[in-house]
Amino acid sequence: MFGKATSIRAVDGIDLTVMPGETLGIVGESGSGKSTLGRMLLGIDPPQSGKTVFEGQPMPKLGTPQWRALRAKMQLVYQDPLAALDRRLTIAEQIGEPLAIHNLVPKEHRATRVAELMSAVGLRPDQADRYPHELSGGQRQRVVIARALASHPKLLVCDEPVSALDVSIQAQVVNMLRDLQEKNGIAMVFISHDLKVVRHIADRVAVMYLGRIVEEASSDVIFAKPLHPYTKALVSSVPVPGTMLKSRTILQGEPPNPADRPSGCAFHPRCPVAIDLCRTGVPQLRHVAQGRTAACHLVTGADQPVVA
Ligand code: SF4
Ligand code: MG
Repeated sequence: MFGKATSIRAVDGIDLTVMPGETLGIVGESGSGKSTLGRMLLGIDPPQSGKTVFEGQPMPKLGTPQWRALRAKMQLVYQDPLAALDRRLTIAEQIGEPLAIHNLVPKEHRATRVAELMSAVGLRPDQADRYPHELSGGQRQRVVIARALASHPKLLVCDEPVSALDVSIQAQVVNMLRDLQEKNGIAMVFISHDLKVVRHIADRVAVMYLGRIVEEASSDVIFAKPLHPYTKALVSSVPVPGTMLKSRTILQGEPPNPADRPSGCAFHPRCPVAIDLCRTGVPQLRHVAQGRTAACHLVTGADQPVVA
């Protein structure tokens, strides 16, 4: 079972695969559909067309016993840990809950497992009897992560997991997530608008614009040599340590309303290099090089944008 890819084939030609032990970063401005995609992956928001495949099997219908059984293996960590936790339960009770619900550990061994999980996420034993409101935001997110790990997930979807945290805490939590993901061979989808964080944690990156993937490549490649004009603009806004600030592309305006999608390439009203064709022709996501896709009329099969 383990070792098979998780793939999503959903509306708007989204076709993504996440392998065990791999982190796929999903980036884009707010409203680009990143969170919807994350929920789709877990079967919470089933795609209108297409399918989500988990470990070689189509995702069962939401709420069925089969779905619930799979859900234990797929966990979601989102931005607000306080909303994810039950404020009436202690930290130990929160982390112990999935162990009991999914009957993962016999009752007499639960306390030991809870202590292990707390230690794995850097919580102190004396915090076991605290309540969520007695902890800092970073500590609360550690509790959520410990809870998510309790059921030995194969897939972890993290939706802006550190965006609400203090910048000084963000790196600690991200590094911890990366270590746990690597150690446990988890497939992780890391959704964020923050490219610096994604660059740090992701092996591969998919860039979303108005509900579609516009470019996907390995993290190294996409940050070193973005091909799609939208990716270029995003990447140019991230300072790279030790390098001179290169020319910066400032994106004009806000992303359009997804309900009022621009014709042709949805990015054309903001694209600095749009040509006439972009107003009418929808660019398809195509393989442009080994392990690399892009959806732009100006990006052709060669690993270089070619101006038509
Ligand atoms: Fe810009 Fe046209 Fe490429 Fe869209 S298809 S990103 S508008 S050049
Ligand atoms: Mg979001």
